[in-house]
Amino acid sequence: MPATRTPTQLTAVAARPLVSVVVPCLDEAAVIGETHRRLTAVLRGLPECEHEVVYVDDGSRDATWDRLTALAAADPRVRLVRLTRNFGHQPAVLAGLREASGDAVITIDADLQDPPGLIADMVERWRAGWPVVSARRTGRQGESRFKTGTAHVFYRLLAAVADHPVNLDTGDFRLLDREVVRTLTLLPESELYLRGAVCWAGFPETSLEYGRLPRPAGRTKYTLRKMAGLSRRGLLACSSAPARVPGAVGLAWLGGTALTSAVLRRPLPPAAWAFGGQAVLLGVLGEYLLLIHREVRGRPPYVVHQRWASGVPAPAELVAADVTASPEAWATGSVR
Ligand code: UDP
Ligand code: MG
Repeated sequence: MPATRTPTQLTAVAARPLVSVVVPCLDEAAVIGETHRRLTAVLRGLPECEHEVVYVDDGSRDATWDRLTALAAADPRVRLVRLTRNFGHQPAVLAGLREASGDAVITIDADLQDPPGLIADMVERWRAGWPVVSARRTGRQGESRFKTGTAHVFYRLLAAVADHPVNLDTGDFRLLDREVVRTLTLLPESELYLRGAVCWAGFPETSLEYGRLPRPAGRTKYTLRKMAGLSRRGLLACSSAPARVPGAVGLAWLGGTALTSAVLRRPLPPAAWAFGGQAVLLGVLGEYLLLIHREVRGRPPYVVHQRWASGVPAPAELVAADVTASPEAWATGSVR
């Protein structure tokens, strides 16, 4: 998403705002101590900010939880959430967003591939008025060619077929203003693709660039299966295109069949028409599935950014009204 939009502070920044950092962890015992040391060094250096770090243990089987409880015992600014089993990276980040209470919330991986040093720049841009500060990966050291290549292709494919703008080469290392966190955590869907949902919400966004570093310890937890799952989740969450493939194929096939029979000046066999007809019918079903999918996931048709009357902004309570409805109100449809 372009960084050219004028930033607009959503809520007045408190004199000493609370900055939360959310860290999803799966079997990160080998690195978590060093990550915490580096994170707190950066957070302590933030001018006039309080901070908290929320670690989410996503069903680790190694000593991650023991390390985390030791960190929490030594530092009251550490909060922990332990999931019953491994639910996956996206649910773990969402759990952290729900737990965090900061005026700004930063999500970052546990393995130091995302440099904690960038957090200071993110907070500075947030204080300058940007509700979303994302981080675009310009390079990815220590990752296989297969992984970087497929990620490169995937982000571009997604951008080509998405129903709304999406960011290229941007993962879940970002800062979100409290108002954006509130919007995202009110979405009732369980198959949330966070990086797409942030773009869907549409708040003004600026992005920093960084080179992804190699892991200092441990191995990737994103297996091929999890990568495929994340791509599928992203594609289905951001794009109507997959459901529209049969209809498009059917119409093209029927058009081709009609053209061929006109050129040949004789009708083509019924089987040629039947394939196109069936694909078009599947396309009609696809449109209904899309409608049902949209209704079931229960996103609001719009998100209000600001209200303005008589030349002055409306009070913050009013500004936030359309995204601060209770989850029950969303579920019963009263905010649609
Ligand atoms: N992670 C998680 N649950 C999972 C997979 C990963 O909480 O099921 C965490 C992991 O501990 C790390 C972050 O998500 O903090 C990103 O995972 P990883 O570094 O393995 O992915 P990669 O950077 O290799 O894509
Ligand atoms: Mg990693």
